[in-house]
Amino acid sequence: MGDERVKTEGMQIIGMFQVLPKLVVFDLDYTLWPFYCECRSKHEMPSLYPHVEGILYALNDKGIDIAIASRSPTPDIANTFLDKLNIKSMFVAKEIFSSCTHKTEHIQKIHLRTGVPFKSMLFFDDEKRNIQAVSKMGATSIFVENGVNLGALRQGLAEFSENWNTSEKNKLKWLKKFCKSSNSSEEEQK
Ligand SMILES: [Mg+2]
Repeated sequence: MGDERVKTEGMQIIGMFQVLPKLVVFDLDYTLWPFYCECRSKHEMPSLYPHVEGILYALNDKGIDIAIASRSPTPDIANTFLDKLNIKSMFVAKEIFSSCTHKTEHIQKIHLRTGVPFKSMLFFDDEKRNIQAVSKMGATSIFVENGVNLGALRQGLAEFSENWNTSEKNKLKWLKKFCKSSNSSEEEQK
């Protein structure tokens, strides 16, 4: 499938959802491209997984910001590759540094830079430990096995909507409970 077709299909998928993330955060190695940058040379020409470019453009066109959270020990190679692929300027935040945390530091920095709350973020990564750590922060986190593709996008947006609706329902439940208990304590005071 060509990039334009992927983009069109990606936009159709995004259009199916009423609630959307404000920011989509991607890991790099084995999520956007099929290699570890530290094993490559800056002088090579990298390539992305087949659906990635179309998906990035679809998100961009729909006004959804995108960011990178990568624990790569070679940010210079990662940045050179993003430049060579002509996608570097598409990202509102790029946190590329090695860290002993499972991306929580990266996501925290992206939050501080963009002001987007964790619960409004959708995150894609190929490592389960990162998925677990970031979902605990409140971001919808999707494990990808063969890179980001249209199926992962659809799954991510569906899980994001589900999480959003659950948290809204819980908020309402809490409010009802709170109003009830404050009403009954008012009654008691009378
Ligand atoms: Mg990775």
